[in-house]
Amino acid sequence: MYSEIRQYTDTHHVTLVAVSKTRTADQILALYNLGQRDFGENRVQELMDKKDALPSDIQWHLIGHLQKNKVRYIAPFISMIHSIDSPELLETVDREAKKNQRTIDVLLQFYIASEETKFGMELSEAASLLDSIRYKALKNVRICGVMGMATLTDDMEKVRQEFRHLRHIFHTLKKDYFAGSDHFSQISMGMSGDYRIAIEEGSTMVRIGTALFN
Ligand SMILES: *Cc1c(COP(=O)(O)O)cnc(C)c1O
Repeated sequence: MYSEIRQYTDTHHVTLVAVSKTRTADQILALYNLGQRDFGENRVQELMDKKDALPSDIQWHLIGHLQKNKVRYIAPFISMIHSIDSPELLETVDREAKKNQRTIDVLLQFYIASEETKFGMELSEAASLLDSIRYKALKNVRICGVMGMATLTDDMEKVRQEFRHLRHIFHTLKKDYFAGSDHFSQISMGMSGDYRIAIEEGSTMVRIGTALFN
């Protein structure tokens, strides 16, 4: 499946993040050898265990809920953190990035699903974060866009509406806070079951696991 999906995302100029959680280093290497470089993990410990066994030019994405006390492990190398869901987490990432003398690219995660378990912010929370003086003092994080997960459902019209909502959030933030910033350009949405819809609704980055590795 990898080649078909990769061709599809390349054709649409969308970044494919291969979600490799629960997969072995050998399975990851097989996709690496086909040219895949962006991989996503949702647990810090699992990421740390795999990273050292794999080529150093892999771009690792942290896509799952991130605890503040785990940030220091990934700060030296992480390529992008998709799951910033509080001002405190953003501040921690900034602090750890600074210790490593680097800037870390992040996405703000939004709550777009109708499920209780999903993490993320509301637009109003993000706006007050971006308006705050504390945020303006952060020099070692770069907010590159938004991320969201749709409800796990067969109702594709509902999924489409949720993706549309995330795109609306992206454009609102772009207009109000990032009009002059070329780097604020990413909408991370779409998984195995819904990536085509996500791309139709403006996704620039899809996170696909099951469909790639099966
Ligand atoms: C597991 C996971 C994915 C990939 O899900 P699949 O259905 O296997 O494609 C995408 N995003 C996040 C945040 C995940 O945890």
